[in-house]
Amino acid sequence: MANHYDLVILGGGLRRRYRSGPPQFAYAHYKCRSAYRRHLRQQLETVAAREGKIAVENAFADAGKNFDLRSVPYAVFTDPEVASVGMTEAQYMDIHGTCSCRTISMDRIPRAVAVKDTRGLLKMVAHHETGQVMGVHILAPNASEMIHEAVLAVKFGLTVDDLIDTVHIFPTYSEAIKIAAQAFRRDIRRMSCCVE
Ligand SMILES: Cc1cc2nc3c(=O)[nH]c(=O)nc-3n(C[C@H](O)[C@H](O)[C@H](O)COP(=O)(O)OP(=O)(O)OC[C@H]3O[C@@H](n4cnc5c(N)ncnc54)[C@H](O)[C@@H]3O)c2cc1C
Repeated sequence: MANHYDLVILGGGLRRRYRSGPPQFAYAHYKCRSAYRRHLRQQLETVAAREGKIAVENAFADAGKNFDLRSVPYAVFTDPEVASVGMTEAQYMDIHGTCSCRTISMDRIPRAVAVKDTRGLLKMVAHHETGQVMGVHILAPNASEMIHEAVLAVKFGLTVDDLIDTVHIFPTYSEAIKIAAQAFRRDIRRMSCCVE
């Protein structure tokens, strides 16, 4: 065992206690704390599970892992649904003073038109110089299913061009991610179906 701990307590449910807790308690998720300082921690099952795994690996295998909270998605199961990952336009503006953002209405998405439910929109926030995807925010039916492609884009630093260069299934709600990326490069109002 790489480190010795008197006691290992997993789960953010106890975080308040560890801040003020008795000194004999050593906490395995200590190494996640710098991430907490930088980003707002979302209180989700998925975050707790990830923290637990990292805590154990850091405690018992000295893995030195951290948790990048920037690519943690969340959803609100309303009708239509809300789903989001990464920086919002306002957060990006606060840091860079400018924004490279595109918002597309779901009535641009062939699948939404086909099923006659065009409620909602999708906003993509990209780096104003590199085109790297910084955040995606969706209000639409199936938003919680659509968001995962955006999670990978944010996590692995993909650009809008990487998304454009990826073949998507037609007609799907997920095509909205590609069409939003295309909106950075062309006028999507003049685009016929499946145009690259
Ligand atoms: C109503 C509701 C719905 C939710 N729905 C979702 C959802 O759909 N999706 C999602 O991702 N997240 C959801 N969440 C959030 C999610 O449940 C929490 O973020 C997650 O459970 C946090 O896990 P945790 O291990 O950090 O803390 P907890 O799950 O709170 O675990 C802490 C544990 O520590 C125990 N404990 C507390 N004090 C002590 C003590 N002194 N000694 C020993 N044990 C102690 C508690 O009994 C508890 O079992 C929901 C939360 C609520 C309340």
